[in-house]
Amino acid sequence: MKIGTFSFEEYIEKVISFHGSVAPGMIAGGFMVDLARTNLPPGEFFDVICEASHCLPDAVQILTPCTIGNGWLKIVPTGRFAVIFFEKHTGAGTRVFMDPEKLEKWSEIKSWFFRIIPKHQQDSALLVSQLQEAGNSIYSIEQVTVKERFITKIVKETPAIILCPSCGEAYPENFGVPCPACAGNGPCE
Ligand code: ZN
Repeated sequence: MKIGTFSFEEYIEKVISFHGSVAPGMIAGGFMVDLARTNLPPGEFFDVICEASHCLPDAVQILTPCTIGNGWLKIVPTGRFAVIFFEKHTGAGTRVFMDPEKLEKWSEIKSWFFRIIPKHQQDSALLVSQLQEAGNSIYSIEQVTVKERFITKIVKETPAIILCPSCGEAYPENFGVPCPACAGNGPCE
């Protein structure tokens, strides 16, 4: 059994070094990324959307050249555990999601996914072994078309960089004046 070019054990090592721990979502994410990649529609260049902000984006970043930083991976948070690979010009894509209907025979996966038992009561060894044994069988695949607003557009005019009259820092002018932080939308107090 392989995840990307890695053996299952090698993938687990990658997960620990990149993500910090063997989160179950990272194992599921590995299978999902593989499934999406092997069921792609025709096309040459693919971008990725994750509908969950936890775990899945890190699985994509370990297994593909798509990262948040290079812009080929985006998070569109719907709360659903799903990943979409799509052709970056047409939006034609493959969506893979954890299928609740397929979890009946996997008690520990179901308990984890539906948060039926508290995290500290989970049998994490059993959960990992069930995720490994279940392999691709607990996910479903569908062909989708990504909405135009989520497809990367070629920016024809690059906005100018201006100085905020309030904080004096530089930012692109299309963010408005003053800068979003000085307008009250920054991350810091
Ligand atoms: Zn400012």
